[in-house]
Amino acid sequence: MKDHLQELPEPACCGAEDAPADSQGVDMPRLQNAVRELLAAVGEDPDREGLLETPGRVARMYAEMFSGLREDPRVHLEKFFTEKYDEMVLVKDIGFTSMCEHHLLPFTGKAHIGYLPNGRVVGLSKLARVVDSVARRPQVQERMTEVIADMLVDQLNVKGVAVVIEASHSCMTIRGVKKPGSMAVTSAMKGVFRSSVSSRAEIMTLIYGK
Ligand SMILES: [Zn+2]
Repeated sequence: MKDHLQELPEPACCGAEDAPADSQGVDMPRLQNAVRELLAAVGEDPDREGLLETPGRVARMYAEMFSGLREDPRVHLEKFFTEKYDEMVLVKDIGFTSMCEHHLLPFTGKAHIGYLPNGRVVGLSKLARVVDSVARRPQVQERMTEVIADMLVDQLNVKGVAVVIEASHSCMTIRGVKKPGSMAVTSAMKGVFRSSVSSRAEIMTLIYGK
């Protein structure tokens, strides 16, 4: 019997774009062995054809998704500009994917970062870089929100920071309570956004419109 599988093109999920991630600092052989072990433990045969390259692929994926463990997001905030601008700055809808530390399943969503400068501003794209860097580690959304807010307070000497994160957690949508479409919203308000109801209302209006 002809093996039709041989003729199928490589699935889109594991094609040429599956380039090796920067694996510096990651014990790749150990990671690959762990994936093999996981497959064997659930009753799979890690040596069957379709799974042969899976440990290597998954190891590269984890190296990429956890690359934030090997960098300090604060480097993105080291360069700032002295500006008289003293109104709110807001970058909305910064997309990210992180990994829930309880299930090692991704949570995906958007971060909104607002701050009230105190003589210093950063390049807007740097805020997105901070989100990316913080996202790439195992964590919970609550801590991710706080970490980003505290970092901006420390590095920029701001009058206030507001970080709002909304995300869909696959550990809630594909397993357990299985609630597709549910979103978790967390916020961290610092400085004036914590102390002033009107400042907080203003930034939330900017984030959510109307
Ligand atoms: Zn989880």
